[in-house]
Amino acid sequence: MIPGSFDYHRPKSVQEALALLGKLGDDSRLLAGGHSLIPAMKLRLATPGNLIDLAGIADLKGIRADGNDVVIGAMTTQHDLMASELLASKIPIMRETSAQIADPQVRYVGTLGGNVSGGDPANDMPALMLCLNASFHVSGKGGERKLAARGFYQGLYMTAMQSGDMLTAVRIPAPPAGHGYAYEKLKRKIGDFATAAAAVVLTMKGGKVESCAIGLTNVADTPLFAEEAAKILTGSVLDAATVKRAVAAAEAITSPAEDARGPAAYRTKMAGVMLTRALARAKSRAAG
Ligand SMILES: Cc1cc2nc3c(=O)[nH]c(=O)nc-3n(C[C@H](O)[C@H](O)[C@H](O)COP(=O)(O)OP(=O)(O)OC[C@H]3O[C@@H](n4cnc5c(N)ncnc54)[C@H](O)[C@@H]3O)c2cc1C
Repeated sequence: MIPGSFDYHRPKSVQEALALLGKLGDDSRLLAGGHSLIPAMKLRLATPGNLIDLAGIADLKGIRADGNDVVIGAMTTQHDLMASELLASKIPIMRETSAQIADPQVRYVGTLGGNVSGGDPANDMPALMLCLNASFHVSGKGGERKLAARGFYQGLYMTAMQSGDMLTAVRIPAPPAGHGYAYEKLKRKIGDFATAAAAVVLTMKGGKVESCAIGLTNVADTPLFAEEAAKILTGSVLDAATVKRAVAAAEAITSPAEDARGPAAYRTKMAGVMLTRALARAKSRAAG
């Protein structure tokens, strides 16, 4: 399929991109890696008259420490996330999750910004952002603001960003040293989106869970933050009975669509299986 015709713009700065967005309005779309947007345009699910390519804006790339936070530019690719020593040492679940996205070809071009800002619940990074309590730096008509990932995803392809907004960076507080983590993803084949996936970050003290956060991918119209399940686990030794109760609580908030990846009930169960595995692996990696 061939996309509809569009004008191509390549700003050199965030200010120039925002000015273009303001001028061209809803007939324009930001282009990052294009690995979600271009397929949608080819299927005529998106028909923007203007593409504003962010690839020429150096300020949108890179990964840096800022106190206890790691700040990642929106145009940083999934490949860059995997290659970052800073992330490997501070937030290793970022590397583990990136490595499970699609294939090297997609990861060399697809960006963190494009992955989290499209509001696609099938993408892997949004649930991880909920789990890690990330926040998004957004610039738009009203200036710059910081939006919490927990609250950002409002519906299928709907986020808290407004028309004219642009994501510039993602800020993630590094979990404490010695934390356990795991991203478990069930997919039909390499390069496929998740049938279901679970992200877990936890800390242990004296053999008990001191803190726990859980995100679920592709089992509802939005990524899910499984707060009740994490509460059930906190204070426990992650014994089988408590894990079972927490998994039931996580499954209860899912509402997956039935699609080629399986019936809804199956995908809910697979979310539970992924969560059980992620908890076991996170525990095995945690100190304390
Ligand atoms: C074969 C294939 C398999 C894939 N499998 C997976 C997978 O398993 N897991 C997964 O997570 N992803 C998967 N993807 C998606 C891939 O990771 C995409 O690259 C990614 O989701 C979107 O990033 P992008 O940089 O390509 O964004 P684009 O496609 O350029 O943009 C996506 C959307 O975000 C908007 N946008 C982009 N940047 C900004 C910004 N800075 N501010 C505001 N809005 C912005 C765009 O306007 C567009 O609406 C797959 C893609 C392909 C082609």
